[in-house]
Amino acid sequence: MDNTSIVFPPLEIPETLAAGPGPGNTDPRVLDRFTQTGLADHMQADVLRGMIECKVMLREIWGTSNVYTYGVGGTGFSGLDCMLSAILPGDSVVAFVNGTFSGLDGLAIRMKAATRAELKINALDPKPSSVTIVEVPHGQSVTGEIVENALAEHKPKWAFMAHWETGSGRVNDLRGFSDACEKYDALGLVDAVSSLGIADFSIDDYPGIVGWASCPQKGVLCLPLTYAPVSFTERYIDEVRENGCHTYVHNPILEARHWGIIDGEDVEKGTYHRTHSGYAVAAFHEALRIILQIGKPQRAKDYAFHEKVLREAVEAMGCEVTSDMTSLVVLNLPDSLAGREMELVQGCRAEGFGIWPTLSEPVQIRIGILNQLSESAITDIVERFAAAMTEMGADIDLSQVHHVLKRHYESDMVSK
Ligand SMILES: *Cc1c(COP(=O)(O)O)cnc(C)c1O
Repeated sequence: MDNTSIVFPPLEIPETLAAGPGPGNTDPRVLDRFTQTGLADHMQADVLRGMIECKVMLREIWGTSNVYTYGVGGTGFSGLDCMLSAILPGDSVVAFVNGTFSGLDGLAIRMKAATRAELKINALDPKPSSVTIVEVPHGQSVTGEIVENALAEHKPKWAFMAHWETGSGRVNDLRGFSDACEKYDALGLVDAVSSLGIADFSIDDYPGIVGWASCPQKGVLCLPLTYAPVSFTERYIDEVRENGCHTYVHNPILEARHWGIIDGEDVEKGTYHRTHSGYAVAAFHEALRIILQIGKPQRAKDYAFHEKVLREAVEAMGCEVTSDMTSLVVLNLPDSLAGREMELVQGCRAEGFGIWPTLSEPVQIRIGILNQLSESAITDIVERFAAAMTEMGADIDLSQVHHVLKRHYESDMVSK
């Protein structure tokens, strides 16, 4: 048989500037660890030791003494799937949705809580009677008051919220959510995909929340598809121990075993759960080392500082910023370019400048700064964006824009 027509040339993927909501450009130290790693099997001593060291570092990064703290192989939704697997058919849930990602989390929750009959009615978009989705408009945050009112009314077994909703760039009220969960005895679950590694928070300060899930490639800055960090309290694990869940792979108790967590205790060596990769473990290990070496408070400060510069620079171009996350700016174009958001984004992406539109209505532009925490990186992003707007006919006062950059970087960076 002649196979030449289906053997494609080697796949070349260009280097681009990842200036969106995530993934961020992987740190060179992480890539280096990945390529320096030898092929060892998943039970080799250094791979197992690396997993246990990752677990210890992850507890520090999450700010927790939860024993059940580890990485779930895959993307953010893999960690979320593991966390949400404790929700069983018929369970009552209130989920707060204020953008694309919490919307998808809400769908995952509806799929898990649906009874067999409810699933059959609408298999890909079930509407179980036990789940209440509280919709908060795009561009607004979930407030403590919204959570309080909904939990008071529905008194659910589980409550769910995203910490930072990357779809609309909004920070939701973690304190209000945790307090309301405690008050109404709901088990709180949080999507911390976008905030871990960026915001300086410690999950043990939020006792109403029993389950947390994040991702490899946003604030943690590891390679995509390595490990999604999760952490579960004893209360959560007791729930799974008592009622079980419908998965082996994403079972929050079983999945912990390879990381040396068995029967609620740390053991010296993990036992087989599924095949982990020495490459992934080494990359993840290095990403966690980077976060701890810089320190959570410093990292949070750096993000806040550079986000402010980017925000003020795009405002000087006539854009209106509607987000309040510190790793991402979500904006409306000036009136003269309104409606041409997709065209602008596509033009930038074609040039290797990877900004993003919003994925749900209204169409806005998202510019992220994951791992772009320097004067030169932010200046590059600002200049590329200004050039793209100018090309589309915007009348930008570049001296104003440079004045913003100069004002911040000359004053604030001197001390650093
Ligand atoms: C990116 C994101 C996700 C999805 O993560 P994947 O790694 O793409 O699976 C989920 N929730 C939030 C808040 C996100 O920002």
